[in-house]
Amino acid sequence: MPGIIRFAPSPTGFLHEGHLLSALYVWAAAKKWDLKIHLRIEDHDQGRARKEYIDGIREDLAWLGFRYDSESIQSSHFDFFQKVLDKLTAKGLVYPCTCSRKQLQSENPISETGEVIYQGKCFFRRETKDERREINLPHNLRIVIPDKVINWHDERLGDFSENPKLQCGDFPIRDRDGFWTYQFAVCIDDLTEGITHIVRGEDIRNSTARQIALSQLIADTCQDEPSLRIPPYTRQLYLHHPLIVDSSGKKLSKREHAYSLRQDKDAGKTPPEILGQILYKAGFLSNNTPTALEQAITIVAKRL
Ligand code: GLU
Ligand code: ZN
Repeated sequence: MPGIIRFAPSPTGFLHEGHLLSALYVWAAAKKWDLKIHLRIEDHDQGRARKEYIDGIREDLAWLGFRYDSESIQSSHFDFFQKVLDKLTAKGLVYPCTCSRKQLQSENPISETGEVIYQGKCFFRRETKDERREINLPHNLRIVIPDKVINWHDERLGDFSENPKLQCGDFPIRDRDGFWTYQFAVCIDDLTEGITHIVRGEDIRNSTARQIALSQLIADTCQDEPSLRIPPYTRQLYLHHPLIVDSSGKKLSKREHAYSLRQDKDAGKTPPEILGQILYKAGFLSNNTPTALEQAITIVAKRL
């Protein structure tokens, strides 16, 4: 069976250079490893996702010439997410956390990367099948993550041994507004969609150990779910690609890209011009030379 790779943009804005670079890496990996490509619209954050962005992502990918084999949208899986949550809750693996942002910052250690390492203050609020608690305070839901080292390999960056309990502690799977978090949604979808290859920006590298840990909990807890029958987490390949650097040498995270490809397109740039520009900025080309998509994918694939 061929492997499956996914491109998973969040429709909280139009596609920008960060997405485009990720897309080139994903399509290059698919070429190199002969994979099917799946487009997943990650609209788990219903507070920020917009229909115009969803349509825009599809249109822009088509305009640039990116073709894929299948497509899904997270919001059509929300009932299933709830089912998984219920099963995790019944096993005592979930608890509501009422800590405010301020409390989180002041009552917990902060990691080198600036993240709160949650110490489990609200763990006592955990409920089980036999013990239901009503909670009327604003709260998120956290997963009880095992205190365990996850060993994983990145095709570009090498081997990692990380313990999510020490990196961030129990983390939210549903936020205060009732929206599913990225970590929860991405784990379930990667499992149910049979994703074998995960290629994405270096800015998300820190999430990998916690996603492996959560995927294992989900797979173990939901063994009777046909859609989660095979736990592919054991054979997932990871590659986290470098990000684009701005003129001062600072890496731009996807969130920081100020303008969209639409603006380039509206200004009259052609797809080869846009692709050449991105290859140049990412260090694949020494000159800003217009490059056709197939050629651009080949250039990136050679460096994988
Ligand atoms: N939806 C995420 C983003 O646009 C990507 C998630 C992933 O590739 O795991 O930043
Ligand atoms: Zn708390």
